[in-house]
Amino acid sequence: MRRMMKDIQLVFDALKNPSRIVITMHQKPDPDAMGSSLALYHFLQGMGHETTVISPTNWADFLKWMPGADKVIDFESQGEIAKKILLSADWLFCLDFNNLGRTRHMQALLESLSCKKVLIDHHREPQLDSFDYGNSDFTKSSTAEMIYDFISCSGEKELINKEIASCLYAGVVADTGSFRFSSTTPSVHFMVAELMSYGIEHARIHSHIYDNFQENRLRLIGHVLSNRLEVLYEYNTALIAIPKSDILRFHIKTGDTEGLVNYPLSIQGIEMAALLIDRDEERKWSFRSKESFDCNTFARTYFEGGGHYNASGGRSSESVEENVKRFKMALKEFTINTKQ
Ligand code: 5GP
Ligand code: MN
Repeated sequence: MRRMMKDIQLVFDALKNPSRIVITMHQKPDPDAMGSSLALYHFLQGMGHETTVISPTNWADFLKWMPGADKVIDFESQGEIAKKILLSADWLFCLDFNNLGRTRHMQALLESLSCKKVLIDHHREPQLDSFDYGNSDFTKSSTAEMIYDFISCSGEKELINKEIASCLYAGVVADTGSFRFSSTTPSVHFMVAELMSYGIEHARIHSHIYDNFQENRLRLIGHVLSNRLEVLYEYNTALIAIPKSDILRFHIKTGDTEGLVNYPLSIQGIEMAALLIDRDEERKWSFRSKESFDCNTFARTYFEGGGHYNASGGRSSESVEENVKRFKMALKEFTINTKQ
């Protein structure tokens, strides 16, 4: 049965009584997914709800400083507990993704739940019929900004504290590329000014996210930029494909390849950068662009993915070699089609 997603404002009335609430986000959560989820967690706890954050998978070490991160349940390693909590939930809040497929092995369980599902997200082309209530707005810088808006409209804004402000700040810093992407609107800066008034340690938060790796990650970047970068000047595109042997040699773990896709965009004339990683279970793509290359449509058309106009991701079960071949064909076709 097709459902229409109702306005998020209607959630506030329904949340007057204490409820059991689960918050979840996309697999391999980034600072926006984790930060917005934890900010909402602290807020809903403050309202008196029994709230749990469940991540579909594990997460990077650079997120572990976030207040409440130690209470997040990992569906992959704590499946039984997670399942029990999900089955008794009254509400499911889905943050920073817009189709249940992004929750990996949790998808079937989430689809079977009869609780109310709420979407708060800023990606393109949401799967609206999966959610009862929600706000889907791709003009927003981050899900963190949308959670700030949600809290601001709730009538309980006084619940914002340093913990909530720190989580929201982390999300917006990461998703705006430290306030340099065009999604950084005046309202983002107004929000940040307010978040700073709660005494957040913004320099420390930035360091927690960006200066929190092991030596191996920097060695990998050096190696990859020297040996795996291919620049396709005729398409104003650069491609980095990382084979499994590199992952093993540099002991790469979740989060270590975050940000790597951005490096080629610093080359003059390069408008699109693609990164392919040979993960255990699949080949994972990341796409980033400047200005006019539509990463969302590209990822959706060729690599079962999606995301934003200037940043998207995708996946494939084919080999690295097959993926690279397909990427080059796709790029040619996409370039011809978008020039018409
Ligand atoms: P990243 O390259 O950092 O993994 O992802 C870039 C953006 O695209 C993020 O906003 C992320 O949520 C989204 N994204 C990444 N992979 C996928 C995917 O497979 N499907 C969809 N729909 N979005 C993705
Ligand atoms: Mn986001």
